[in-house]
Amino acid sequence: MSITVDRAGAILTIDLGAVVSNYQVLRGKIGAADCAGVVKADAYGLGAVEVASALHGAGCRKFFVAHIGEGVQLRESLPADSDIFVLNGMPAGTEDDFFDSGLVPVLNSLREIAAWRDHALKRGHRLPAAVQVDSGMSRLGLPPRDVDTIASDPEMLGRFDLKLVLSHLACADEYEHAANGQQRNAFDRLRSMLPPAPASLANSSGIFLGSAYHYDLARPGAALYGINPTPHRANPMRPVVRLSARIIQLRDVSGSTGIGYGHTALATKPTRLATISLGYADGWRRNAATAAFLNGVRLPFIGRVSMDSIILDVTDCRDGSVGEGDWVDLICEEQTVDQVAAASGTIGYEVLTGLGCRFHRRYVGAA
Ligand SMILES: *Cc1c(COP(=O)(O)O)cnc(C)c1O
Repeated sequence: MSITVDRAGAILTIDLGAVVSNYQVLRGKIGAADCAGVVKADAYGLGAVEVASALHGAGCRKFFVAHIGEGVQLRESLPADSDIFVLNGMPAGTEDDFFDSGLVPVLNSLREIAAWRDHALKRGHRLPAAVQVDSGMSRLGLPPRDVDTIASDPEMLGRFDLKLVLSHLACADEYEHAANGQQRNAFDRLRSMLPPAPASLANSSGIFLGSAYHYDLARPGAALYGINPTPHRANPMRPVVRLSARIIQLRDVSGSTGIGYGHTALATKPTRLATISLGYADGWRRNAATAAFLNGVRLPFIGRVSMDSIILDVTDCRDGSVGEGDWVDLICEEQTVDQVAAASGTIGYEVLTGLGCRFHRRYVGAA
């Protein structure tokens, strides 16, 4: 059940107009190539159904999820004109589920290829498939030795409508990393041994490596959601997420008063505190000592982050400018997803996918 705003401690606002605008920026960068939307992990925590439907409205017809369960769920809400690719492959025994939901498995091993081919024989017609090759990340996909095996026995793929040959870059966010060119060369060599099919290599950052990386289809995720795909340069994407929490109590303490768990903070002079209704159970990491913002004014955290609350020092706010029931921003223009991530030694991807499920979710900017 969705959480109404009056019951929520925090609000997650997701700007679908910004997602669409980011999609259009990326599509503009890749020229004639097609642009998919990666909506795995519930669209990086922002809502796969809402995001995919907004992207569909913008012309996107290819979607990637990680797990079959995500694909089955997405299929129920997407028009039938879209392909849904399942990146993590096909667990044994799920062939009927893939078939019934019309999902395209990304086949990562000879075992998966054999199982899906047997299923095509059983069904008596060709089945859609994508094949992933490992061009150097050593995570998923056929190693070169297995691509040799297929090259010597083309019948292994003969029962498929081969929709895509893909691979994934390990170092795309480091634009000068030698692995990028090496992976591109390996990808070209490996796919030349397979039957002709559309090719795909670039994730968000890969798009910014230049046209040699675009092939037939790009697969951005993070950049759609406002994460900077070019960490060494200014962010070309529009912010998508705003996270706001409610001030649930104000108090004035005198000097030498301990504040929060462990009394890690101590008031040394009369101090005004505001407790907000968001904590580490909402995915706000305990080691991210940062601040909240009220109408652009920075309100520093004081003491430890609790499970369901954080204490702010609001001493410097003008009398009456902060009240119980007010909303402060934790992810906003002044404090981006990437900055929040950097403050706790992680990446924007982990911040977004870690956001909890207790928020009131508000979608704005939909077509
Ligand atoms: C997650 C993922 C993507 C999207 O990556 P971003 O860096 O979020 O753009 C693309 N391809 C594969 C195989 C992935 O696992």
